[in-house]
Amino acid sequence: MSLLEDLRAALGPAAVLEGQEMGSKPASDMSYTGNTPPRAVIRPRSTAEVATTLSLCNAAGVPVIAQGGMTGLAGGANPSGQEIAISLDLLRGIEEVDTASATMVVKAGTPLEECQQAAAAHGLFLALDLGSRGSCHIGGNLSTNAGGIRVIRYGMAREQVLGLEAVLADGTVLSSMNRMLKNNAGYDLKHLFIGSEGTLGLITRAVLRLHPPPGEITTMLCASATYEEVVALLRRAQSDLGNIVAFEAMWRDYFSFNADALKLRFFAAEHPFCVIVESTASREAIETFLAACLDDGLIADALVATSHAQARQIWSVREGHPIEALPNLLNFDVSLPIGQIGHYAEACTAALLKRWPKAHVSFYGHVGDSNVHICVSTLYGPGEDMHSVDDIVYGVLAPYHGSISAEHGIGTLKRPYLHLSRSAEELALMRRVKSALDPKGILNPGKVI
Ligand SMILES: Cc1cc2nc3c(=O)[nH]c(=O)nc-3n(C[C@H](O)[C@H](O)[C@H](O)COP(=O)(O)OP(=O)(O)OC[C@H]3O[C@@H](n4cnc5c(N)ncnc54)[C@H](O)[C@@H]3O)c2cc1C
Repeated sequence: MSLLEDLRAALGPAAVLEGQEMGSKPASDMSYTGNTPPRAVIRPRSTAEVATTLSLCNAAGVPVIAQGGMTGLAGGANPSGQEIAISLDLLRGIEEVDTASATMVVKAGTPLEECQQAAAAHGLFLALDLGSRGSCHIGGNLSTNAGGIRVIRYGMAREQVLGLEAVLADGTVLSSMNRMLKNNAGYDLKHLFIGSEGTLGLITRAVLRLHPPPGEITTMLCASATYEEVVALLRRAQSDLGNIVAFEAMWRDYFSFNADALKLRFFAAEHPFCVIVESTASREAIETFLAACLDDGLIADALVATSHAQARQIWSVREGHPIEALPNLLNFDVSLPIGQIGHYAEACTAALLKRWPKAHVSFYGHVGDSNVHICVSTLYGPGEDMHSVDDIVYGVLAPYHGSISAEHGIGTLKRPYLHLSRSAEELALMRRVKSALDPKGILNPGKVI
């Protein structure tokens, strides 16, 4: 392939990997739905080398895929076999932490945890946080507009970005490295690249917004009898405690499965809902709040973690690693108005169990952000596959006007269902934007739209 020879000549032979030297990582993200390696992996070391790579690929009409930490859950970074993968892993490092403006300039291939640690070392706080923090890259986080556990207080990845550098399909470097909170000088182009999963350009650097550290966080586990009580608890926590930094609900089947497997027991009885609430309010305020919630019947039981180790135990149930061992496990990521999530969970469970009476179906998630995850494990019958489950989960969601993707993105897995969450006019405009920025369609083809 003369393109690979041109890339070797331009970037050096070590920047181009083929065959066995690529390893298995480029074949699939953590949805584990990819099984085809890319044609080659290119490892640029700078924005200029990303630009050279894209310009050569565009001229040759060869499709490319950006690959970050490969922790995505929507198949967005999975090759189809035709593409060259551009790995951002050598574009790594913090260029600057500016304590006066509370900003950080970071390269796209830097792992999220490294950015969090650099902010903390300067007495500041990067508010983005997800379970994959040690492996996912900032570039991947921004390309998927990641959510995570602090959205309720600080917003999604999009809200943490002030400026961005991206390389367009033809190799043009678009540097919008704004550092100000306020900048209304025309269109805010960075938003084209945030959440577009590598289909409109490759992110190479970003200016991230930092915050003062939130202070000491107290972790509570609350038990409630109904979903309505969970919502009432959310609103009461927001009004009485104010500083809520996490609100994560777990339906009984999810909580019990993981707690039992981890041999953890927090309450004498099982409850229909367990909720992790984290707040920076004082211990005294938290105790007064929990007593009032017990008196008013919003919760049936509660405990306050008395050590970091106990808080970690509570979070280990929410992280739910035991459930990942279930056969054919599918993890959905939908959003719908907070008040309707309980009803949707009941309707979705009923529809899935009607089709597969022995299936495992359980719910958990960032309910304070109107986002719920669904775990479904079942053995398929003849002519069935994962899309048989998708059809039910998204079919039940449609009348609620919810979104088929709250935070994980569309990738390949949800692409056939995008029309359920976006109008024909929205889809048409997305296609026009795509063809304006990437006329040859070389950027992550077959993904999102
Ligand atoms: C244990 C675990 C917990 C998770 N928790 C959460 C959570 O709470 N919230 C959440 O939102 N997600 C979560 N995720 C999903 C995943 O971690 C996020 O989607 C993350 O943002 C992906 O980052 P990445 O670097 O791994 O991207 P990748 O998987 O490598 O890529 C994701 C997409 O972004 C594109 N891309 C990657 N880098 C670039 C770039 N520099 N420029 C342009 N496009 C690029 C890829 O082409 C692909 O379409 C979790 C995953 C795991 C495994």
